[in-house]
Amino acid sequence: MRKRVIVIGGGASGLAAAVTAAEHGAAVTILERLPRVGKKILLTGNGRCNLGHSGYEVQHYHGSIANAETILRRLDTELWFRLMGLYCRTDAEGRRYPMSGTAASVLDALRMRAAALGVEECCDCKVTGLAAYPGLWQVQCEQAQFTADAVILAAGGSAAPHCGTDGNFLPMLQALGHRIVKPQPSLCPILTDPIRVRAMKGLRVHAAASAYVGSRILKTERGEVQFTDTALSGICIFNLSRLAAEHGKAMTISLNLLPDWTPEQVLAVLRELRDVRADAPLADLLTGLFPKRIGECVLKAAFGTAQGKSSECLHTDTALQALAQTLTDWQFPVQGRAIFAQAQVTAGGISGESVTPLLESKVCPRLYFCGELLDLDGDCGGYNLDWAWSSGVWAGFHAAQDGIRRSGYVPNTGKAYKKQR
Ligand SMILES: Cc1cc2nc3c(=O)[nH]c(=O)nc-3n(C[C@H](O)[C@H](O)[C@H](O)COP(=O)(O)OP(=O)(O)OC[C@H]3O[C@@H](n4cnc5c(N)ncnc54)[C@H](O)[C@@H]3O)c2cc1C
Repeated sequence: MRKRVIVIGGGASGLAAAVTAAEHGAAVTILERLPRVGKKILLTGNGRCNLGHSGYEVQHYHGSIANAETILRRLDTELWFRLMGLYCRTDAEGRRYPMSGTAASVLDALRMRAAALGVEECCDCKVTGLAAYPGLWQVQCEQAQFTADAVILAAGGSAAPHCGTDGNFLPMLQALGHRIVKPQPSLCPILTDPIRVRAMKGLRVHAAASAYVGSRILKTERGEVQFTDTALSGICIFNLSRLAAEHGKAMTISLNLLPDWTPEQVLAVLRELRDVRADAPLADLLTGLFPKRIGECVLKAAFGTAQGKSSECLHTDTALQALAQTLTDWQFPVQGRAIFAQAQVTAGGISGESVTPLLESKVCPRLYFCGELLDLDGDCGGYNLDWAWSSGVWAGFHAAQDGIRRSGYVPNTGKAYKKQR
């Protein structure tokens, strides 16, 4: 008889798990609380879906899943999608996108593959309870009840709750005896003093952003920084937001707006500008390096004002050095915690201590986990979807193979998807 596998959550990892379990002979049903599967996939990468990254680098992942590297390395995302008829292209930074340039085609490819394999989709079906009987799971939904040989829990984290992900499973899993690492918003803007950023709202600048606690530097990221009326944003800020959640108000962000120049080069450029713009208002001094409003804010941070003439304000080397200092170490205190509604992913979740290397629960046999529900999150750049597909394939394979594994047979796991070196 075919093994019955229920996948709870029709997001990225749930669809990957469902397709894989069906490919390995299981009769699969997806239970999704929203009216459609894959809502979040459609929003990823600003609608273009940065579905993976060309290289696996351990420093881009954080969390407690001990064999995450093995799981990630096992799946060649590009090949896996190609076998579904979806072709990818990779940009200069290694970020992988569907060739079509639209996230909808990623979801379509997954749904077409699932349909071809006979995977059943039950939408508007919120799961409210799980009960284990010998060799059988009973899954309770608001309006119906299902039974299965194995359950794959792919209900996501707590980020972007409008996509159906609000951490609703964590209390239940904790009650069953799983250890939960406290969920925190990650890949989100970092709140700071609104007085420092409000005047630059909507503007962007290329910078190196460093996270500090006291004089200790935690991490530096380079890229585009965006200003909002209350926060710093942009990819490099997103990649520091996990630290902001951890350290809160003890942390400061320092921006170096001229990261490609040495301190001597910065001073030389400022001297040059002082001469070229000698008769211009001070407020215009930095126009040509940055958008004017950003230049004005830098000058106010350095001198308390952007009034007067450039030559009058900058006639001493001390003044030039003060401006150079602000340009290369402009400090923004972290203020308050970001909320899940602003975050792209969740740091924390089911601890690696509670799962086996097969991503099966150590507490409840035949209950598997994948995706963001687990305590593993990645940086910006396709790393989170890479984890969603890889962990989904891994959990789907093992859930479908479960009976064989229990009888002592060791399967040759997912050879078709092995990364090419
Ligand atoms: C705006 C945005 C942009 C992003 N862009 C990128 C990107 O470009 N690249 C990248 O790598 N990552 C990106 N991410 C992160 C990435 O989308 C997630 O890490 C990934 O989707 C997680 O997959 P998942 O399957 O674990 O969870 P999800 O995709 O969140 O799916 C979980 C599903 O479970 C369902 N569910 C929850 N509870 C229940 C229940 N009780 N019963 C039934 N169903 C339930 C939810 O409705 C949801 O459909 C982005 C995230 C956001 C919010």
